[in-house]
Amino acid sequence: MTESNTAPDVKPGRLSASEYERNFSDLHPLLAPHEASVEADRCYFCYDAPCVQACPTSIDIPQFIRQISTGNPTGSAKTIYDQNILGGMCARVCPTETLCEQVCVREVAEGKPVKIGQLQRYATDHFMASRETTPYTRKSPTGKKVAVVGAGPAGLACAHALAVEGHDIDLFDANEKPGGLNEYGIASYKSVDNFAAREVAFVLSIGGITLKTGSKLGETVQLSELRTQYDAVFLGIGLGGVNALGLENEAKDGVLDAVDFIAGLRQADDYATLPVGRKVVVIGGGMTAVDIAVQTKLLGAEDVTIAYRRGQERMNASEYEQYLAQTNGVKILTWAQPKTLIASNGHVEAVELERTQDDNGQLKGTGETLTLEADMVFKAVGQALVPADLNGSSPNIRIEKGRIVVDADRKTSLADVWAGGDCVLGGDDLTVAAVEDGKIAAASIHSALSA
Ligand code: SF4
Repeated sequence: MTESNTAPDVKPGRLSASEYERNFSDLHPLLAPHEASVEADRCYFCYDAPCVQACPTSIDIPQFIRQISTGNPTGSAKTIYDQNILGGMCARVCPTETLCEQVCVREVAEGKPVKIGQLQRYATDHFMASRETTPYTRKSPTGKKVAVVGAGPAGLACAHALAVEGHDIDLFDANEKPGGLNEYGIASYKSVDNFAAREVAFVLSIGGITLKTGSKLGETVQLSELRTQYDAVFLGIGLGGVNALGLENEAKDGVLDAVDFIAGLRQADDYATLPVGRKVVVIGGGMTAVDIAVQTKLLGAEDVTIAYRRGQERMNASEYEQYLAQTNGVKILTWAQPKTLIASNGHVEAVELERTQDDNGQLKGTGETLTLEADMVFKAVGQALVPADLNGSSPNIRIEKGRIVVDADRKTSLADVWAGGDCVLGGDDLTVAAVEDGKIAAASIHSALSA
């Protein structure tokens, strides 16, 4: 064990109340009506619009933008919900700069895309402000019951689509609150005013969905029992485990899982109560790494560094997310992997990193090292499925590369079980992709139950 003697500087209340309020205010405030109108008028309403092709849920983007420009935001929202019932959250968290806005002809021609995400938020926020229920009504009851496990984006989208078809849904979730990563995992400044909870209430307003929180698969709920009690099962269980660094001192105080800290931050009533280090090092290169780095900076950390083992172009965090990190004062150190966690008196105090290089496609350490002082070290090196949660079904569900195997209809290897979202193999780990999985699975389940 490596030890030295500097006291950690970790404490709450680093900022004033007004600083916390400013730092955690809405990242992209809602467009005013005249701003939305001007922005909508920039759209060319393209035939064969590339933005639609780039949207994982195939929202008719030119149509909803035209409805905004003609003064019909309610109809615009309905166009969005027809493809994506979680259109409000997706408007907030979709990496539009790598999806619809990247291929927008105005981006290609002049480097300034139509602000599709902000227009989507304008329409959906208008809708939710004016009515509390989804714009759909349930068909006649079918008498079929479906268990949906996981009340995150995939489970909610699946449950809503099945409820519309007249099926009855029991929606299980391990947490106290529904919403999954929308409730516990999104950076606070992307989802203010309790939006995730309001959107869940909106989705459940369709009726026919019974929410059962505090129900953890593999503990209080068993897959084998669900398969006998329901006509079909959908698994949208996400990834419950967190990857480890595999280093000595990983269990020391101050070495934390980024997802746990973000969840605590999202549920905090008062940011001033959250202890944060003066010097923070984040290990990882994805969205979670950026989210934790930016948020610790916004909580008052003085010196925050993301250490990533490859080049910046290989980071899973989008260019915009990287820009967001850097404009908030976060340093991004590339080609550096953690070698040693240095601790003193039971608490981390520094990270020794080894420089890396690409050697014909293989990542290799160069032997050169550098040391960053750290009062807190966050692990943001990915999450993993917990296969034990799926035990008890015979035969066992097929898992490859740590994810559930599904076909194009999101059917698993078990005839009566479908799955979607982060827990399945081949997905994009995006909220919008999870919604699409839920939609596709619901259509397949409905077809199977109607046969
Ligand atoms: Fe409008 Fe851009 Fe989509 Fe064309 S590509 S329809 S300009 S948003």
